[in-house]
Amino acid sequence: MWVTLLLISLFLFAFGAMIGSFLNVVIYRSVKGESWVAGRSKCEHCNKQIRWYDNVPLLSFMLLKGKCRWCKTPISITHPVVEFLTGTLLVWWYLGGTFFFRLTQQPFHYVQPLFWLIVGFLLVFIFVADTLYMIIPDEAVGVLLFLTLLYRISLSLSGVMQPLDFVKTILGAMICGGFFFFLWWITKGKGMGLGDVKFAVPFALLLGWPNFIIGVFVSFLLGAGVAVVLLLLKKKKMKQVIPFGPFLVMGLVLTLVWGSNMLHWYLQYL
Ligand SMILES: [Zn+2]
Repeated sequence: MWVTLLLISLFLFAFGAMIGSFLNVVIYRSVKGESWVAGRSKCEHCNKQIRWYDNVPLLSFMLLKGKCRWCKTPISITHPVVEFLTGTLLVWWYLGGTFFFRLTQQPFHYVQPLFWLIVGFLLVFIFVADTLYMIIPDEAVGVLLFLTLLYRISLSLSGVMQPLDFVKTILGAMICGGFFFFLWWITKGKGMGLGDVKFAVPFALLLGWPNFIIGVFVSFLLGAGVAVVLLLLKKKKMKQVIPFGPFLVMGLVLTLVWGSNMLHWYLQYL
């Protein structure tokens, strides 16, 4: 049992890392406005085509010590980081799906794990694109919004989710989007981008009522904490912009995993 589990986990990690490798290319090319499938990957600096054996997720980065084989230009650390994240995501999904979060009711037995897997990849995509290029692509938010709405509606129609909870979740998403729009408007777009405003809607849909409030709170706490550390280390100046999307993603994930615990802990002190 455990050997099988370990072998499948290893295989899934490798497979997830390959998806991450592809995701890196997709993010880079969508930001640069290039086609996703146009040609093999090239070194951004010397334009030499990257050989397949230099393109093995995680391993190649280590073997090449993070540099291009030909021109020795450093390869962005985001490549192995994304590959590690997506590899871990797939293993977590498999183990979580095997042991924890499976609704027994058909068809959600299969739909739910698949839904969360796609959500996971979209969140990695948003996290990396905003960290590297200060952009939350509309396509990613659009797909996320569409899938999440569809998921919530089907949960509600099949009776897994109570109608009242569904209404609360929709209202919550509108309030959350409105709140971020207000922040964007009052800071004249300096505090956050419109991408964050759009992302706030599926963010609240995913967390539901009242957990999205915890999610927003955690995101701001993380963002403020990191901003203070960067200022103290003099890595950033007061006027430089730090993308907020990555903190929203982190706040979302933390609240998805520990949100109910956080709420109980907080209510104890009221
Ligand atoms: Zn090169």
